[in-house]
Amino acid sequence: MSLTFAINAGSSSLKFQLIEMPEEKVIAKGLVERIGIDHSLLELEYNGETYEVREDIPNHERAVELLFEQLQEHNVIDNYDDITGVGHRVVNGGEDIKDSTLVTEELIERVEELSELAPLHNPPQAQVMRVFKDKLPKATMVAVFDTSFHTSLPAENYLYSIPTEYYEEYGVRKYGAHGTSHKYVAERAAEMLDRPLEELKLITCHLGNGASITAVENGQSVDTSMGFTPLAGITMGTRSGDIDVSILPYLMEKLNLTDVSDMIDILNKQSGVLGLSGVSSDMRDVEGAANEGNERAILALDIYVNRIQKYIGQYIATMNGVDGIVFTAGVGENSAYMRDRIIKGISWFGIELDSKANDTREEAIISSKDSKVAVLNIPTNEEIAIARDVERLK
Ligand code: AMP
Repeated sequence: MSLTFAINAGSSSLKFQLIEMPEEKVIAKGLVERIGIDHSLLELEYNGETYEVREDIPNHERAVELLFEQLQEHNVIDNYDDITGVGHRVVNGGEDIKDSTLVTEELIERVEELSELAPLHNPPQAQVMRVFKDKLPKATMVAVFDTSFHTSLPAENYLYSIPTEYYEEYGVRKYGAHGTSHKYVAERAAEMLDRPLEELKLITCHLGNGASITAVENGQSVDTSMGFTPLAGITMGTRSGDIDVSILPYLMEKLNLTDVSDMIDILNKQSGVLGLSGVSSDMRDVEGAANEGNERAILALDIYVNRIQKYIGQYIATMNGVDGIVFTAGVGENSAYMRDRIIKGISWFGIELDSKANDTREEAIISSKDSKVAVLNIPTNEEIAIARDVERLK
């Protein structure tokens, strides 16, 4: 048996899937939550059962230790040699890491150096890579970067209109995120349309709690809505997306804040659909409240749709055309209502959904026969994409 781990470590969490390769069959999955906080929890799903362990987990090292103990206790693995590959999601790989990369000590150090660009994610991700390397020295270990798909952006799209020295000296540029997902759905879209990816202009809409939109031309990301950090772009669950930065000092004064990170926290955690609606960051709740006539929820949805349409319009203009629009992630994959609203508002481009085909949560072409542009619903699968990259680099 050849098993590959897909690992996604956050600042206080660790999500995992154990996937049989090359069959791409998920054998077990789960997560560890509240690492370094009290009442930590490990949840493991295997063979239709869910196992839970509650104990204080002080750090990611103990989280990985406990995970291995559980895998053995529930006979998921016989011995460590069953696991021949590990793929780690890493949030920021800077501008020189252009592809998934074998994990060496040097690579881990590079990920640590880049922590300034992703302070909450890169440090625990580097730590988790070290722990896995100790535990599974024989496995092929690969780091898969959220940013690498976007390293193909041309300078005109990754530079901000500020003095160029700040890019040259401090690396201030657009890095983007969700690259693994955008790449996965773009490749899948080409297969579903039965056309070479290299000939297509695509707009991929990853609409989850975090959300971003990417323009993909000839198989390469040419522009994306997230920026220097994932705060930029469209309205998200709790993130503001694009705003005029002059609002920051103005609001800091009004709110008596002296530390700008408190202001950034408001933009990351209390804004977006949550801040607008006052209801929830969860789109199902907001759609529900809007249905019941809640005015703020109705307006939050209007703004959410509007920002997505603006980005789609921008990318149609800058790519000078589009062959396919792809919806993915929590909202994109599941909300036929949202897809319908977004596409209806841009029908001038000759884009039209087939309402029956749109009534789905599965992989499908959902545009009408007459639509000038294909519209596709493609559930994303970042874990499988990570496991495939491990196989590719074996
Ligand atoms: P993700 O970050 O990809 O897990 O997406 C999470 C978001 O997807 C949350 O805002 C959910 O409310 C939303 N979501 C999941 N299912 C649905 C659904 N059926 N309709 C609308 N939104 C959904």
